[in-house]
Amino acid sequence: MLYIVFLTGVCNLNCRYCGGTIPDEVMPHEINYEIEYLKNFVEKDKDAIIAFYGGEPLLRIEKMKEIMDNVKAKKFVIQTNGFFLHKIPDEYLNRIDSILVSIDGVKDVTNYYRGNGVYEIVVDRVKKIRKRYSGDLIARMAVSEKSDIYRDVRHLLSLPFDHVHWQLNVVWAPDDSWTDFDAWVKNSYNPGITKLAKWWVEEIKKGQIPGIVPFQGVIKRMFWPENGVPCGAGRDAFAITTDGRILACPIGGEFEWNELGDIRKKNPEDLRNSVSIDEPCLSCDLYPICGGRCLFANKERLWGMDGFYKICETVRHLVNEMNWAKKEIEKLIDEGMYKKDDFYYPPFNNTTEIIP
Ligand code: SF4
Ligand code: SF4
Repeated sequence: MLYIVFLTGVCNLNCRYCGGTIPDEVMPHEINYEIEYLKNFVEKDKDAIIAFYGGEPLLRIEKMKEIMDNVKAKKFVIQTNGFFLHKIPDEYLNRIDSILVSIDGVKDVTNYYRGNGVYEIVVDRVKKIRKRYSGDLIARMAVSEKSDIYRDVRHLLSLPFDHVHWQLNVVWAPDDSWTDFDAWVKNSYNPGITKLAKWWVEEIKKGQIPGIVPFQGVIKRMFWPENGVPCGAGRDAFAITTDGRILACPIGGEFEWNELGDIRKKNPEDLRNSVSIDEPCLSCDLYPICGGRCLFANKERLWGMDGFYKICETVRHLVNEMNWAKKEIEKLIDEGMYKKDDFYYPPFNNTTEIIP
């Protein structure tokens, strides 16, 4: 299972859609449990994946090293804003299987949402560590009204990232900063997805699979059906707060449905399948692929049901495009250009949530 470990609630940035440092009343800024407790808990799971998370986890590199030195896990992952990547010593850097770096696209878009000069610093750090790091380097975008999905994904793939993943900046808060979500979906996002899917398939026909995680993850679910929400929240993915509480989803530590106990009292197997997706997802025709998209959105519905269904339409469009792409891919597999296994991505739950 996946354990998302908060190393701190503190962040050095204050992005528009996030708000920066997690308030102390949601969780303490520093880990206040003994790492021995984390070890006892996580090591009961022989297939444990630990993902470091925050705040900005690399503000606490020493704590990350302490955990990597003391807690056995099959895989390590980190989600970071990238500012301190160059500070990870080599012997730790190359034990991390996937590094997800927050960046939203071209310079203007990234700097608008994340702060002036952020793009330049993050790109510098990514270029620096690419020379030393052989694992999976993933650009993690938050996609909002200023995003042009085709332009921004293509741009990030031109930087030294192996993969690009994105999530729509929707339903994280009731009062998001959209001026006209419907028009953006109709005129920009959905046409952009169509254009990107066409480009993706053309590149695949030329012999390489561009690392576009939502496309790859949907194709994977079509080839190898899975159950439930793709991020695994509440099923086989859990977050551990700085005070040792266990959450189904790392967002929103303050919600009751999300609180599952404490690492000092629970075993990993007590948690498996402990929170499930509700209607309308279970009866939705897209459920086998979408899986309910996001447990948090399914429970909280901060945009109401109208808003919820608007986001479903973006899922429907993406899945339609991938139904077409799948047929093209199957032809290439039949012709012997690829093996089905070439489309098995992600190879483990690396915290990419698949459905944007
Ligand atoms: S498309 Fe919407 S209703 Fe259908 S499974 Fe996904 S989130 Fe649920
Ligand atoms: S997709 Fe939703 S439920 Fe899953 S981790 Fe992200 S916010 Fe939580």
